[in-house]
Amino acid sequence: PSSKETPVTHNHEETLVLVKPDGVERGLTGQILARIEAKGYVITELRMLTPTREMLVKHYEEHEGKPFFEPLVEFMGSGPVVAARVTGNRVIEGFRSLAGATEPTTAAPGTIRGDLGRDWGEQVQKNLVHGSDSTLSAERELGIWFG
Ligand code: UDP
Repeated sequence: PSSKETPVTHNHEETLVLVKPDGVERGLTGQILARIEAKGYVITELRMLTPTREMLVKHYEEHEGKPFFEPLVEFMGSGPVVAARVTGNRVIEGFRSLAGATEPTTAAPGTIRGDLGRDWGEQVQKNLVHGSDSTLSAERELGIWFG
């Protein structure tokens, strides 16, 4: 196909984005959602809630048993979170690219974590956003946050 053809719904995907409690508390929700929209992704569902421990244990089940699991679950339940269902072509990989590396200090400038994330010392859990890492995770996580 020639590059002049209109890109439409090729590789259309959905992902779960969370603005974590540090992002909401710092008043960065609007900026973060604006970056997602500016990239051309579409937000099709949005809610703000303080998640229950039960939701968080399910959401982070792959990390259960790791040393950062408890602090992570505690932090994520410490205040309101904004959850978004975001759609677009290759949005799973694309949002993770927008978010940047896990640690705000080493995340590249230009990314959400690189531009807006702080170094909180040991508290690596405070890195502003979450994005699903595969189609399987996205489906599972969207079920937890949007039912
Ligand atoms: N995390 C942490 N300590 C670590 C690694 C991860 O607190 O050593 C937290 C951090 O909030 C991260 C989340 O656990 O976003 C999930 O970890 P993952 O490796 O999946 O990172 P991500 O995909 O969010 O970049």
